[in-house]
Amino acid sequence: MTLALALLQLGTLYDQSIAKLLDRQFPSAEISYILLDTSTNAVIAQRWQHADQPIPVGSLLKPFVALAASANGKFPALTCDPKQCWLQKGHGALNMTNAIAHSCNSYFQQLAPLANPDFLSRFGLAPPPQNASAETWIGLGREWKLSPLSIARAYSILASYPEAAPVLAGMLQSSQSGTGRAIAIKARVKTGTAACAHPAGQPGDGYVVAMVHGYTLLVQVHGVPGATTAATAGRMLSAILRGK
Ligand SMILES: [Zn+2]
Repeated sequence: MTLALALLQLGTLYDQSIAKLLDRQFPSAEISYILLDTSTNAVIAQRWQHADQPIPVGSLLKPFVALAASANGKFPALTCDPKQCWLQKGHGALNMTNAIAHSCNSYFQQLAPLANPDFLSRFGLAPPPQNASAETWIGLGREWKLSPLSIARAYSILASYPEAAPVLAGMLQSSQSGTGRAIAIKARVKTGTAACAHPAGQPGDGYVVAMVHGYTLLVQVHGVPGATTAATAGRMLSAILRGK
């Protein structure tokens, strides 16, 4: 056996052990996940029924709306209008990095009219329906659905996208002091809460994408907000990184 082949087999064995580890430590049927290799976008481990079927993914869309609305990687400073935001007192003045970290609805609703739907194919994402509202563009409601696999892969592409630096800085800030802080490790994080994707309906499902050490992890927890899902994602990443 060549060395390359031996290393390849070792890698595959390691991937199998991650899948086993996650299924043993996180057996709850409420938790679905996809773990990708960020650089190759290959699936390392996955437990998600119908991962290729489109569902609402909420605020996970915001980074891609931002990039679709920017011609040159420059993003405006905008002031949150509390009437458009989930945070009652509003977020005040925000740049892109803060807007991602705190997942401000108003900031992205103001950008949405500038977004070019054709741009989304760079990230392998299907565009929203024609003439989508600003609310649809930022992931409110059920109008724009994407498959879990496609949104996870879009984040891996984002990780090395040249114009995404302010967005990626916002994702890092999210894990420190933003909506993703329950993750309790330093990672690039985006949270989302979306209309429930399950037959036994809850008001919503929580989503987190977390990127660290070459992994892209997408987690969905049934019936809880995205900010709470971050805690689960953090425990999963800790288990993966310890297992290494
Ligand atoms: Zn806001």
